[in-house]
Amino acid sequence: MEKSLIDMRFEDIEENLKVIRENISRAAVSSGREPSSVHLMAVTKTVEPIYINHAILQGIDLIGENRVQEFLAKEPELELGNCSAHLIGHLQSNKVKKIIGKVSVIQSVDSVGLAKEISKHAGNAGIVQDILLEINAGSEDSKFGFELDEVKEKTLEIAEIDNIRVKGLMCVAPICDEKRKLLKIFENIYNKFIDIRAEKRDNINMDILSMGMSGDYETAIEGGSNLVRVGSAIFGPRIYSDKH
Ligand SMILES: *Cc1c(COP(=O)(O)O)cnc(C)c1O
Repeated sequence: MEKSLIDMRFEDIEENLKVIRENISRAAVSSGREPSSVHLMAVTKTVEPIYINHAILQGIDLIGENRVQEFLAKEPELELGNCSAHLIGHLQSNKVKKIIGKVSVIQSVDSVGLAKEISKHAGNAGIVQDILLEINAGSEDSKFGFELDEVKEKTLEIAEIDNIRVKGLMCVAPICDEKRKLLKIFENIYNKFIDIRAEKRDNINMDILSMGMSGDYETAIEGGSNLVRVGSAIFGPRIYSDKH
């Protein structure tokens, strides 16, 4: 029987995951860490639930979505089981209410105002929302985020806000052909992560350093990342419709 397009894509996802997991292990080991210390997130923006569910069947236990609306629209069809979801895209204040309690971590907190808005709605929902603070690493794609030299001060300020817990930092690195330059960017953020982690505050638990995407996850791991957000290298090129 001829293979359907769906089956072919399932096989691609399986093969891609195998390769990526090997690459992650190699990068971790070559920087003196356990392969299991690096968490693989499957970034699922624009990906239909059937393929997301297939990735979950292949052991993916963390997905990342960029847009509140898109995630909420797909969520009923997702067979998440033990798989968690994080929000990784820019979050507008007027969308906060909809996403509170729906994702375990909001990775893209890029202002004190947004942290306060999250606090308000988390309080109303009776939960503590875990967040990461986004660093502006100079990417064209994402001009959002705190500057590296202000993020410590901002973290300490945000840590005073109720109903949220700062779990770490995230960044979208710029496209950069020079590996040394890129590695330096990741290392600088890693150093800041360690610096903030040394501050012992109630609401700061610096566990997650979310750096690295399809094009740069191995370099990010060498630079100290413990969570890589990989989309197109798993699911293939994204096809944007204007539905979302
Ligand atoms: C889309 C996206 C990714 C994944 O990008 P790929 O290059 O497809 O791996 C990771 N992080 C964020 C914030 C994204 O928006």
